[in-house]
Amino acid sequence: MAVTDHVDLATFMKGVERRNPHQPEFTQAVQEVAEDIFDFIEDKEAYHSEQILRRITEPDRVVSFRVCWEDDNGNIRVQRGWRVQNNNAIGPYKGGIRFHPSVTESVLKFLAFEQTFKNALTGLPMGGGKGGSNFNPKGKSDREVMRFCQSFMTELYRHIGADVDVPAGDIGVGGREIGYMFGQYKRITNHFTGVLTGKGMEYGGSMIRPEATGYGAVYFLQEMLKHRGDGVKGKIAVISGSGNVATHAAEKITQMGGKVVTLSDSGGFIHDPDGIDQDKIDWIKIHKTRNRGRISDYVDQYSGATFHEGKNPWHVKCDVALPCATQNELDDEEAKALVANGCIAVAEGANMPSTLKATHVFKDAKIMFAPGKAANAGGVAVSGLEMSQNSERRSWKEEELQKMLLDIMQGIHNRCLAYGDKGNGYVDYVKGANIAGFKKVADAMLAFGVV
Ligand code: NDP
Repeated sequence: MAVTDHVDLATFMKGVERRNPHQPEFTQAVQEVAEDIFDFIEDKEAYHSEQILRRITEPDRVVSFRVCWEDDNGNIRVQRGWRVQNNNAIGPYKGGIRFHPSVTESVLKFLAFEQTFKNALTGLPMGGGKGGSNFNPKGKSDREVMRFCQSFMTELYRHIGADVDVPAGDIGVGGREIGYMFGQYKRITNHFTGVLTGKGMEYGGSMIRPEATGYGAVYFLQEMLKHRGDGVKGKIAVISGSGNVATHAAEKITQMGGKVVTLSDSGGFIHDPDGIDQDKIDWIKIHKTRNRGRISDYVDQYSGATFHEGKNPWHVKCDVALPCATQNELDDEEAKALVANGCIAVAEGANMPSTLKATHVFKDAKIMFAPGKAANAGGVAVSGLEMSQNSERRSWKEEELQKMLLDIMQGIHNRCLAYGDKGNGYVDYVKGANIAGFKKVADAMLAFGVV
């Protein structure tokens, strides 16, 4: 008699926790997906007999390695690097690299797991992966960052390839770091291939890749509002973060006629009731990225704004909220404050920024809530388009890519509706995204047999 997977959710999650001790972020991400998948697969015997859910929650492999480098004072520094290759059922592993002191195996496993479903949702042939290190680029000189990136790639290069695994940027990894890593890959292998995305325009990058995640999140927000006969114009938006995703989300909201009143970093948030317009966004981009400054400096630049040290912006009254900083930055109390203040829609620019309890608050209140795997998929989608351009040795024009990004975000919205539209005016986007992403990957795994 074959063993099947007919256990209840609590028993299944106990098994996940037992197999992944001390990995709270990973088990949280699995729980969020499993809550929706359990209902969906209930009557689908093939998924049970083939143990698809258990197989999908076990990464294909996790590579961990030492990264040794020398700082400007001649000290030898030792860090840890990882690449989590989660699932390549529908295409080469694809997902960013994060450099941040909070990086652990658990964080990267959660991100690689989420990435698998997100990439499936885009409709492009990409598997899921994620990598990174506990290296902190803050306060390091350019040369130190370069030496770290070169050392990181000296190990990573043997695990990646244009048809194997194609990393990109994430927190702490922008154009500068991608450049150093691509240069080292090319030096070691003597191959000029599209092995990384987020590259500079001079050496194979794609137009609108830097903008794609933030813009895509706002396109998704627009689709949700449109579905209810509404739009972004005139809406007050609260955004967290002030990095790549947050600043481009703010830019697109502003272009669409909305008003952004907050941005933040790990030191606190700024509140500008006059609105953070394009000139102010441009100043933040330069100040934070090029000058490596802090968001608190904004209040010295623009009168009328206030800085709130050590706080998140979720108590500020708004119509729409876009958490665009990091995981678990919005808890259930803050979710309740948003709902109580009249927020009608939340689109996650970051990965898993809302805690599990916070997502339940949004669902219970029946406000529009787009999980990161749907709302922030625009970045990886344009990375997928960068891979296509590299393979074809060509580059598409900005207008073509803008149109493709919008089409992809509308496609994701439609896929969420297919499985999340309750038919009573409420759309459960979390359920829709989880099931649509799961089904594509699971069906490919079924086709391969037991591997
Ligand atoms: P950046 O490094 O450009 O910016 C991150 C921002 O978040 C910074 O403002 C940073 O502040 C802030 N931040 C980091 N940690 C915390 C914290 N604990 N509390 C408050 N603020 C914090 O990263 P991205 O904009 O690229 O990424 C942001 C999120 O979006 C991440 O979850 C990422 O995984 C996700 N994402 C990114 C994509 C991309 O294309 N870049 C694609 C899809 C998802 P500080 O400067 O103080 O560190």
